[in-house]
Amino acid sequence: MALVDLTARQLTGLDAPGLVEAEPGRFLQPAVAAAYQAMQQAAAADGITLRIASGWRDFSRQQAIFKAKLNGERPVYDAAQQAVTLAGMSLAAKLHAIMLYSALPGASRHHWGTDLDVWDQAAVPADYVLQLSAAEYAPDGPFARLSVWLSQHAGRFGFFRPYRSFRGGVAVEPWHLSYRPLASLYLQQLSLPVLQAAILQSELAEPDEIAAMLPELYQRYICNIDGENDD
Ligand SMILES: [Zn+2]
Repeated sequence: MALVDLTARQLTGLDAPGLVEAEPGRFLQPAVAAAYQAMQQAAAADGITLRIASGWRDFSRQQAIFKAKLNGERPVYDAAQQAVTLAGMSLAAKLHAIMLYSALPGASRHHWGTDLDVWDQAAVPADYVLQLSAAEYAPDGPFARLSVWLSQHAGRFGFFRPYRSFRGGVAVEPWHLSYRPLASLYLQQLSLPVLQAAILQSELAEPDEIAAMLPELYQRYICNIDGENDD
């Protein structure tokens, strides 16, 4: 598997892995893009127009998102989609609140080029503003059919949904797909020391305090995913 190994810098988004443009502005590893395009064709035959909302993302992008949430410049929501006020919270409480929906920089599966967020363009009007909310993928939401289709077919193309149920870490994200043949390897390679090194060189305030909490965060938010056989 040497050819598909990523370096520590690639695993944490500091360097890009080999990528191709799967859709305009959406980048994935070549094998992942090929599997996605095969799945997209199968979905089209069932009346679903699969589109990528987000593919590969680098460390600095993830860091900007995370910093803005820590600083109160970007809203943080709880599982009921209510805005949470972080001011006055301990650093640990802030991290838990943010990590429900946003990975620590260096810890996003989007850094690997194997993971993507998808939606169905055919299910909504042209001017629809995509939110990537659980309600959109719920049985009465516009992407209910997509969600059922993914449960039935994504596995055939090598994809699974690591956040399809809530396990006490990351919130339910039915839109998030992961390419199992590569991503299962990268999750093993993203060790605690690899992640720690990425956090310590970050521009986050208090990187040492965050690094000290990493063992717990690592177990709860990174390793704690749904199994690789979608239901
Ligand atoms: Zn995602």
